Amino acid sequence: MNYISTRGQAPVLGFEDAMMTGLARDGGLYLPQFIPQMSRADIAALQGVSYEEAAFRIMRPFIGDAFTEAEFQDIITRAYAGFDHAARAPLVQLDSGHFLLELFHGPTLAFKDFAMQLIGQLFEAALKRSGQRVCIVGATSGDTGSAAIEAFRGLDAADVFILYPEGRVSEVQRRQMTTPAEANVHALAVEGHFDDCQARVKGMFNDFAFRDSVGLAGVNSINWARVLAQVVYYFTAAVSLGAPHRAVSFTVPTGNFGDVFAGYVARRMGLPIDRLVVATNQNDILHRCLSGGEYRPSGVVPSISPSMDIQVSSNFERALFHAYGQDGRAVAQLMDELAAGGFSVSQGALEALREAFDSGVCNEDDTRATIAGLWRTTGELLCPHSAVGAKVAQEQRVPGTPMITLATAHPAKFPDAVAAATGIRPPLPERMSDLYERPERITGVANDLAMLETLIKERTGN
Ligand SMILES: *Cc1c(COP(=O)(O)O)cnc(C)c1O
Repeated sequence: MNYISTRGQAPVLGFEDAMMTGLARDGGLYLPQFIPQMSRADIAALQGVSYEEAAFRIMRPFIGDAFTEAEFQDIITRAYAGFDHAARAPLVQLDSGHFLLELFHGPTLAFKDFAMQLIGQLFEAALKRSGQRVCIVGATSGDTGSAAIEAFRGLDAADVFILYPEGRVSEVQRRQMTTPAEANVHALAVEGHFDDCQARVKGMFNDFAFRDSVGLAGVNSINWARVLAQVVYYFTAAVSLGAPHRAVSFTVPTGNFGDVFAGYVARRMGLPIDRLVVATNQNDILHRCLSGGEYRPSGVVPSISPSMDIQVSSNFERALFHAYGQDGRAVAQLMDELAAGGFSVSQGALEALREAFDSGVCNEDDTRATIAGLWRTTGELLCPHSAVGAKVAQEQRVPGTPMITLATAHPAKFPDAVAAATGIRPPLPERMSDLYERPERITGVANDLAMLETLIKERTGN
């Protein structure tokens, strides 16, 4: 399988190189040259198989010859062995037609573990083979960073540097990043927003001299392997509710557009998804763009669902690439306009986007009310991100088609917001109950590319 850049100017790569590279050298994101198909019979045959087996069958065509079947099977088994739930991604019923897909049973209690645990195993296998050493750098609004650190801590062949916006992640998120004691783990508190962190990471990737000297590798949600890992649970959830014989809909709490783009890939592979709903918090640039065609970042307003406090939604570029008929030049032009303030989506592309995605917004009051309401009516505690999804799902569901809301984090990861809405303070799982007592290691850094690069060079001995 070959991978091409959304901006059309970077070399075509195989799976392993696309995964190791992260961001393409033309600034674009890698995508498979074509999307493999699952037939109705292939999908029906997923009924009753383990999550790992489903993952193997769904991802195999994208991997090409990067790993043998036995190697890939082994990688998947190890990736999901640390999950607390035997189903990996269990479905919980909220009412007659509304379901919650619980994606928070991994080591750091957010859906990011599905992709990051897999990518950790993929990197380890590839680096062992090549004898290379890499420096993983990522930006996080909270959950990516902890998931990446958990996946890479203690690996011999990788250092991991995570940039997070100081004071804008929850205490559990911060402690998950700052308490691992392994020497290859570096949590950097940046003075700025998530968008600043993400821009500095992009800056490092675009500084080719730096990139090559430290062996930079990216595991942000722009990494294709992460999107791919997330395709799997759309299939397992839909199949448990009757696919391919009946269509289902999904609502996806969205920030960087990686998770919902995985749903789009699942549909393009042949999964009968009726509606794919993008749910945003008050930082609603994606909803505004899908409604009116204008993509103009207006500044982040911090919310109680901080992992979605994003205005520059990286993976949206992948959706644009498809909406513009895989025209890399057109996408590159839009991204130039974005750097200068924003862009307007063409009429044709907007129609294509609207055919693929619906959207809705949930404000702060409605997020709290939804947490409280679902607690009252179902006894389920939702994290604020999942509640944003549930609220939009309730507005957009259509009778007769099951609606599945992705529950993206465990409520205990955001205990203050949950307690404010319900009076209940959800406890952390037993295995991390001493998180608040473990010592932290934090490095504060300015929002400055040159200073960050110097620090990384020093710490990696380059
Ligand atoms: C990352 C994250 C999201 C947003 O996912 P994207 O793939 O960036 O759209 C939503 N909820 C939680 C809890 C997250 O950690």
